[in-house]
Amino acid sequence: MTAKVIDGKAFAANVRAQVAAHVTKLKDEKGIQPGLAVVLVGEDPASQVYVRNKHASTVEVGMASFEHRLPATTSEAELLALIDQLNADPKVHGILVQLPLPAHLNSELVINRIEPAKDVDGFHISNVGLLGTGQKSMVPCTPLGCLMMLRDHHGSLSGLNAVVVGRSNIVGKPMAQLLLGDSCTVTIAHSRTKDLAEVCKRADILVAAVGRPEMITGEMVRPGATVIDVGINRIERDGKAKLVGDVHYESAAKVAGAITPVPGGVGPMTIACLLANTLTACCRANGLEEPKGLTA
Ligand code: NDP
Repeated sequence: MTAKVIDGKAFAANVRAQVAAHVTKLKDEKGIQPGLAVVLVGEDPASQVYVRNKHASTVEVGMASFEHRLPATTSEAELLALIDQLNADPKVHGILVQLPLPAHLNSELVINRIEPAKDVDGFHISNVGLLGTGQKSMVPCTPLGCLMMLRDHHGSLSGLNAVVVGRSNIVGKPMAQLLLGDSCTVTIAHSRTKDLAEVCKRADILVAAVGRPEMITGEMVRPGATVIDVGINRIERDGKAKLVGDVHYESAAKVAGAITPVPGGVGPMTIACLLANTLTACCRANGLEEPKGLTA
């Protein structure tokens, strides 16, 4: 078997186009422009690239982008004051604080200061609780992107065996909650899981969010399974820098029914879902119908 390749780049372009069409409609019919505020503290090079990309993508779909770049020496009180200001600003529908924050700042405190309705990353404790109890919430972007691709591929996910490898608050846990919400039978594996290969082999849907290059190999994949590779690992091979996932693509693609590549799989969906979440937040803030197919 050779797996169908799930093209995350094309999928994300489609999501962005849907968001852009909604934004145009909101502007033309209601005079409302969704706005996303991104806060970056310090000079972390990777974070700077992410923030630049987020700004460009936000503008591209017709939303307002508010960038706040603060020095690494910013105090917690100063950062919290900015968040309070953004919480109160009606032009801002989504707020994202780029992580990681410098060590002297308490990330949990900062994230939990964001108004939950504007928490487009879905990391606020209220949103975590709402998702965990199956209520309407803001959903973390990466797992939301995975869910969209899975729904598109399978139609209904009901009754499928899903294995999520990784239990982080950002990916693994919310991914498992979303799959449970779609009535999968969910197993969460982690670094203490015994016989990971046997656990993975039970999966109709296998999500790898581990951060270990190519650790899930073809022998661990059930024939015909759908494999979603969240991992982004920078390695050096044959003297060249290379980006690989948590799944060993060549061997897994021979066994799986469908698979996301790295790069070009889950990665592009994350920013697309950030835009989708900002649109959703804007619609909710204005008492308007939410965009269909762009939420959990
Ligand atoms: P974390 O490091 O926070 O979590 C990794 C998880 O993997 C932990 O739960 C850990 O278990 C588990 N784990 C580690 N080693 C093993 C092992 N040998 N066997 C089984 N489980 C193991 O990572 P994140 O969730 O933040 O990210 C995971 C990957 O996804 C990374 O490669 C990251 O770069 C990528 N990522 C990609 C995004 C995208 O946009 N595509 C967005 C976010 C992340 P334990 O809890 O027991 O330690």
